Amino acid sequence: MNHNQNPINRVKCVVNTCEHYVEGDKCSAEYIEVQPQNALNSQETDCSTFMPKG
Ligand code: SF4
Repeated sequence: MNHNQNPINRVKCVVNTCEHYVEGDKCSAEYIEVQPQNALNSQETDCSTFMPKG
């Protein structure tokens, strides 16, 4: 797993069970993908780059 030393600046993520999560509510993934198309509200969206820790 590539843990980028430069977390994504403009993303705050509190999902501390994700492999890409770093302290301070940052994301260390190289990029993130958010799904799905045609979502109608924020509840319907999610990060498909999420990967369970460990
Ligand atoms: S990959 Fe998604 S869920 Fe995981 S830390 Fe980054 S933004 Fe959060």
